[in-house]
Amino acid sequence: MNKKKILIEVTNLSKIYPYAGKQIHALSSISMQIDQQDIYGIIGLSGAGKSTLIRCLAGLVKPSEGQIFFHGEEIGQAKGNTLQQFHRRIGMIFQHFNLFSSRTVAENVAYPLEIAGVSVDVQRERVHELLQLVGLLSKKNAHPSALSGGEKQRVGIARALANHPEVLFCDEATSALDPKTTKEILDLLKKVNKQLGITIVLITHDMEVIKRICQRVAVIEAGTLVEEGLVAHVFADPQHPTTKQFIQGSRHEIPAHFFKEASENRKLLRLRFKGSSASEPVISQIVKIYRLDANILLGWIDHLQTTTVGTLVIELSGPAEGIQGALHYLTEQQVHYEELTPC
Ligand code: ADP
Repeated sequence: MNKKKILIEVTNLSKIYPYAGKQIHALSSISMQIDQQDIYGIIGLSGAGKSTLIRCLAGLVKPSEGQIFFHGEEIGQAKGNTLQQFHRRIGMIFQHFNLFSSRTVAENVAYPLEIAGVSVDVQRERVHELLQLVGLLSKKNAHPSALSGGEKQRVGIARALANHPEVLFCDEATSALDPKTTKEILDLLKKVNKQLGITIVLITHDMEVIKRICQRVAVIEAGTLVEEGLVAHVFADPQHPTTKQFIQGSRHEIPAHFFKEASENRKLLRLRFKGSSASEPVISQIVKIYRLDANILLGWIDHLQTTTVGTLVIELSGPAEGIQGALHYLTEQQVHYEELTPC
């Protein structure tokens, strides 16, 4: 297997904003690597530092400390011509699309080509190609006000790709869209990544976005990187409480009285099965070997890019030593589990 090449490397990145006489530490000592042709997701709650991070990566905000390398070249502090050159190699799309309302769809897509001094004929050809790619040829003479949110984002994507960037930065690109349109835009981003080989770096607060298209994920909280890895690994065995929270989602579907009654003779467990490891034999073994009752309360499967992760929430009851034995058995069988306790 070919080893992936690093496209972006971040070392000890910090960003401090001076604000009202105070210092806001938006990012603290972030280090990460983004491989060429990956779709890399950065997730965090509002205020975690996602926008600051993606803006630093895109050369729109200067880091206070640390370095950002693009193909091994430091661009964090780049200025003038070097920064301009770098900006030609990247594209960016935004939550609120940032289209020119006075320009048609075709004119919006042509804008970066005009700035780059591309001839009118080549512009026309490229705009045609891009609108075909994003499925908007029939709307090329429309103005943004006549487009749906999803169509506006398609124009944003076409415009961002105009100058053949190597990486597309997506700043909450689907946050203003409904779930169906979100899926369509994510599918389009996947196509851009696969067909054109463009690396995608996105920020989001929505785990569904990460699950649907990303290979790797970084979880940030209060400006620090708390967890990073392959989406499949992070989903199957999340380490940090914030990551667990992002993944859980369904906890509140379990009636509260189940939590109140937890004791050494009764435990609520969330089990995670990765790939093909089957859940059924494990549970029937626990019941048989340790003479416990197992009640399945919830179950679902997450389809990730490279694997599936099955989750089961079960209630185990019986003798305390039997429950302890069952927990050891789960560890032996490499089934990740978490004990659920009252909120
Ligand atoms: P997110 O995108 O995850 O919501 P941001 O990067 O926008 O997070 O913000 C991280 C922190 O930095 C927040 O506390 C925010 O208020 C602060 N911040 C962001 N931009 C500025 C700015 N230009 N000036 C001062 N503080 C800022």
